[in-house]
Amino acid sequence: MNKNETINIDSNHLDPKCSICNKSTAKIEIVNPNGYPENADKWARNDLERYNKYRDFNAHYLIYSGPGGSNGSIGDLIDLERKERLQNIFSKPYGLDKIQNEFYDVAGCCIKCEKFYCTTHWDISSTGYGICPLGHGQPFDPHR
Ligand SMILES: [Zn+2]
Ligand SMILES: [Zn+2]
Repeated sequence: MNKNETINIDSNHLDPKCSICNKSTAKIEIVNPNGYPENADKWARNDLERYNKYRDFNAHYLIYSGPGGSNGSIGDLIDLERKERLQNIFSKPYGLDKIQNEFYDVAGCCIKCEKFYCTTHWDISSTGYGICPLGHGQPFDPHR
């Protein structure tokens, strides 16, 4: 790769917001083909090189980070069908049962309240068990 390449930031966020403080409860960033995720222009050289090497520039990628973990700075390759599904699910009204199928940590949503809470408003134990502000319990650990 040459040193004069431009880093074309091209992504869309579908982050749900905390129903108490309006902070993002999960980062759901869809990176378009030939695009880079937000802040890629500030990455270190070796992070950029790794991205360029392992990312398929013909495809969309999902970069996810929620209360239960993240899929890293490159993310997962997604097909158009999943991209459209995610866009539909995360435009209001949210389809909670569908979010459960997409993300094991439900992007920070309490299934009983049907509301999203950020990690400040979820009380999450070191073992990955969260308690929402109304006292509902929910696991966030993918290995459970
Ligand atoms: Zn909050
Ligand atoms: Zn709740």
